[in-house]
Amino acid sequence: MQDLTHQRCHHHQFREAVARCPECGRFFCRECITEHADKVLCASCLGKTSGSDGASSNRFHWFFRPAHFLLGLMLMYILFYYLAQFLLAFPSSFHEGTLWQSGWWTGS
Ligand SMILES: [Zn+2]
Ligand SMILES: [Zn+2]
Repeated sequence: MQDLTHQRCHHHQFREAVARCPECGRFFCRECITEHADKVLCASCLGKTSGSDGASSNRFHWFFRPAHFLLGLMLMYILFYYLAQFLLAFPSSFHEGTLWQSGWWTGS
């Protein structure tokens, strides 16, 4: 263990370091160091740790994102397919209805 009194905070040049981050090995003052899961970490490493926690989910993300994208694409395709079917069917039935209605209206 090195003598901390000769160390300065990585972020605050003029502040004495109180702890050393085990992750990056840099020294930090009381303000810059944080306790996380019984580990003393600096803010950036804490962010990296929570990032690595999310890395496992990130690993899924790169898998799920295209899956989501494809799923969304499929849903869009199905939606547009049925929309197209509906739009194609709609004018004819509407037309038929008008024809029937006009026939009913004119009485012919
Ligand atoms: Zn660190
Ligand atoms: Zn500091």
